[in-house]
Amino acid sequence: MRIVVDRDLCDGHGMCEAMAHEYFQLDDDDVMHVLDDSPPESDRAKVHAAVQACPALALTLEG
Ligand code: SF4
Repeated sequence: MRIVVDRDLCDGHGMCEAMAHEYFQLDDDDVMHVLDDSPPESDRAKVHAAVQACPALALTLEG
């Protein structure tokens, strides 16, 4: 499983961080960073929820 971010769509809402702060982090300029783009299968539900929560539809889960 791999987290893919469409940087053109992401505008720093931070919902992803709220749902899964282990994987998504906003910096001081509200730029979101993926801390680990290859989560283990055991975290699929959590990462999937974060992807779904993005209001800009900027996140995709591959695999
Ligand atoms: S919720 Fe979506 S738009 Fe907001 S920071 Fe995360 S990926 Fe970007």
